[in-house]
Amino acid sequence: MKKIRCHCGGKPSCQLCQGAGKYNYDPGPMGYVPFRCPTCAGQKQLSDDDGTQYACPTCTGQGSVDPAHPPPAGMVDVLMKIFFGA
Ligand SMILES: [Zn+2]
Ligand SMILES: [Zn+2]
Repeated sequence: MKKIRCHCGGKPSCQLCQGAGKYNYDPGPMGYVPFRCPTCAGQKQLSDDDGTQYACPTCTGQGSVDPAHPPPAGMVDVLMKIFFGA
């Protein structure tokens, strides 16, 4: 098992890492294979309680997670700026 950095940066609402910021991944015979994002179930967006839609933090709105391309360190800061504005 490998520990892969999660794109969400450690959000408790993340179904992939449960807020740990990293998740376990076991490369199979095919190596690192993208899988459907468990947080948004491939829907790419999540809805807030008030119905506001926002890009899923786990897959960054891709709908799938590619374990071969984890976010680089410092990516969280970049994403925070993108999602929450400067
Ligand atoms: Zn996560
Ligand atoms: Zn997602």
